Amino acid sequence: MAHHVPENLPSSIKHYIGGEFVDSLSGETFDVLNPVTNENYVAAASGKKEDIDRAVAAAKEAFDNGPWPRMLPRARARVLNKIADAVEAQDARLAELESFDSGLPITQALGQAQRAAENFRFFADLIVAQADDAYKVPGRQINYVNRKPKGVAGLITPWNTPFMLESWKLAPALASGCTVVLKPAEFTPLSASLWAGIFEKAGLPTGVFNLVNGFGEDAGDALVKHPDVPLISFTGESKTGEIIFANCAPHLKGMSMELGGKSPAVVFADADLDAAIDSTLFGVFSLNGERCTAGSRILVERAIYEEFCERYAARAQNIVVGDPHDPKTEVGALVHPEHFDKVMSYVEIGKSEGRLLAGGGRPEGLEHGNYVAPTVFADVKPDARIFQEEIFGPVVAITPFDSDDEALELANSVRYGLAAYVWTQNLTRAHTFSQSINAGMVWLNSHNVRDLRTPFGGVKASGLGHEGGYRSIDFYTDQQAVHITLGDVHTARFGAAAAKSVGY
Ligand code: NAD
Repeated sequence: MAHHVPENLPSSIKHYIGGEFVDSLSGETFDVLNPVTNENYVAAASGKKEDIDRAVAAAKEAFDNGPWPRMLPRARARVLNKIADAVEAQDARLAELESFDSGLPITQALGQAQRAAENFRFFADLIVAQADDAYKVPGRQINYVNRKPKGVAGLITPWNTPFMLESWKLAPALASGCTVVLKPAEFTPLSASLWAGIFEKAGLPTGVFNLVNGFGEDAGDALVKHPDVPLISFTGESKTGEIIFANCAPHLKGMSMELGGKSPAVVFADADLDAAIDSTLFGVFSLNGERCTAGSRILVERAIYEEFCERYAARAQNIVVGDPHDPKTEVGALVHPEHFDKVMSYVEIGKSEGRLLAGGGRPEGLEHGNYVAPTVFADVKPDARIFQEEIFGPVVAITPFDSDDEALELANSVRYGLAAYVWTQNLTRAHTFSQSINAGMVWLNSHNVRDLRTPFGGVKASGLGHEGGYRSIDFYTDQQAVHITLGDVHTARFGAAAAKSVGY
């Protein structure tokens, strides 16, 4: 199959430290694969502790002595808006590179590039409008909040929608006045290599943004353990989150953790079935199923169960799987052969845990590359592994229910609690049911549509802390309380009685 390779690919991917592109001090590199051919197409610098040390030193210098943390919010916002403009101006190139490196369909990669720009615009607006609290005790005291950036932020990101997820951390961290060290995912370092040029063009001062490529156990671990990095924002798997949590503990670091998910989509018999089918298909098969908020368990009320399964499977079979660069492609290639093997192992497990309605292996005609046919299993029991475990690929489990109580029990019966989707026309049920689900975010009669002002994050094994809107600014800043007395100070006069007796 003819396969598009972008022009002018870099000949190597380097770190970016203190305003310069540099190799690892050790000279080590790692290979980066094209997910359509699984051939190496570039070598990236493989960061170790000494490279992280250099990057943190540059970020600390920029924080302690540079202009960025001290700039007026309006001045910072101007730079953030220029970053957004620069991202938008090259959205097609960004999408091309992202799609090539990650296997995401080009049309969806373009949407993600535009969202990345929007993240910067949003936080530019937010810091200009930001007001901090003051608490008055008339005639006696005023207490106010003095908000200060925390310092060097360590940002660790995964390989699904890499550029957009990096922007999600970079935008609020920079808006807050922090300086940063970004450690992007090792499977997909290509789009991250564009940040440096974008930031330089927008006028971000030297040393504010630093990037170290490399493996999680080396570069990521060194960043987490670095004493001069007071906060870590991490997005990735729950089990990596557990390790990072433990490694942050001795330093009592601030942590924001966006972790895995196994989100339910609950479809009641009174739902608008056409809309529910469109949305639940998109919810698990968009972004190749490599989506933290994927509705990968669909719970369907018994009265419409067979009809739902039949219609859902027919559509799933018709999903266009193919070259990520083709605008007609709906599901592209999974990011890496290791991840492909993991997803395929779940497809095999699913064959003994459910009734296979669609997919079940490689799509016909795509013998090479990390392609998985959109796969649908019905009649999946709640103790099945494909019901309980995050697969992170184009695989969905459908399970029937008979009552609201059973639906709720099924929805809440996994360790994760990131998102949930509820489909019903009954207003009371819609709200009571949604509020009872243990999930950080619920979408009612909707797929995943983000409003950047709302809290984003999960409960249970899906995360710790919520970002989104001013909550992100809260994470990257300290709110110092300053207290001022008005008028006379009234203090209990310790020692005054004895002092009086000796004449003071
Ligand atoms: P991962 O946990 O394997 O890796 C994420 C990042 O952590 C990578 O940069 C990796 O190099 C780094 N890392 C790995 N081990 C580390 C260590 N010991 N110390 C420091 N850093 C380390 O995750 P992934 O496979 O890249 O991404 C997929 C996962 O991310 C899925 O579980 C998905 O649900 C989750 N995710 C969650 C959200 C959310 O917002 N909740 C969003 C996107 C993805």
